[in-house]
Amino acid sequence: MRFPIQYNEPLFRPPSEAKSLIIQITYGCSWNKCSFCEMYTSKKFKARKQEDVFSDIETFLPYASQIRRVFLADGDPLVLSTQRLLNILHKLKQTFPNLQRVSTYASPSNLSRKSNQELNELYNAGLTLLYVGIESGDDEVLEYIQKGETFKSTVEGLLKAKDEKIDSSVMIINGVGGRHFTKQHAINSARVLNETQPKYASTLVLTTHKGFEHFKNRLSPKINIKFQQLNQLELFTEMKWLIENVALSETIFRSDHASNILILKGILNKDKSKFLQQIDTAINHPTMANLRPKIYRGY
Ligand code: SF4
Repeated sequence: MRFPIQYNEPLFRPPSEAKSLIIQITYGCSWNKCSFCEMYTSKKFKARKQEDVFSDIETFLPYASQIRRVFLADGDPLVLSTQRLLNILHKLKQTFPNLQRVSTYASPSNLSRKSNQELNELYNAGLTLLYVGIESGDDEVLEYIQKGETFKSTVEGLLKAKDEKIDSSVMIINGVGGRHFTKQHAINSARVLNETQPKYASTLVLTTHKGFEHFKNRLSPKINIKFQQLNQLELFTEMKWLIENVALSETIFRSDHASNILILKGILNKDKSKFLQQIDTAINHPTMANLRPKIYRGY
């Protein structure tokens, strides 16, 4: 059976949206400059016409009662005007009577540009979860990887969403600052988590889909530091610093992305000492650690 709508590929979604209906309301990412990210470099950013988005939504009318979760794609749909987003959210609510959750990717700047009232309206219209790739909380790393954000903009954006009851799932990239920035990357990323207390947090390991040379060529020329990739031991050590420095009350933490060799799952800070033990075992007794066997080949 053919899928009822045609996507403009490549199409991405977070792992936890595997069972959600994906509706593309934009194509690509309005920023599209992060040095590690090739998700949308093949696309030019474009907002889709409302009638085309509505037509995609209506295509699922025969399955309307089964649809409980919708994920809005592509890279940062929150860049659209609030009225445009509200029209789409209202259409989703009208079409799918059992809809429980609408989520999307967002950048901290997308959030900072909206007023509290706008975010509140979006929440009331059904947008309840944002996936925010913060990547790092360190200003030098953020500049280095051309993220277009700072510690301050990240904290402000996340807190603004939280003030209006919108949950955030934040992602940090293990190893993204290379050897030079590893410690400050870990400590300042923990600081962002502590100041914002997100509902969900996760880490994944820096993966360069077009190779390290390509990634290095996309780093900011303003920071004159040669990128040195972390080895496995250094990646674990960076994770140790991150976990040591978090002070969270009830954040669901996952590092179970395919790029993670050591899988950590639990609640922070409740599971902090358990995580630190797991990391210590991975560092000091790797053969006894619960590492993904296909990937771990010794240090
Ligand atoms: S903002 Fe997100 S989607 Fe856009 S380039 Fe950066 S990481 Fe990629």
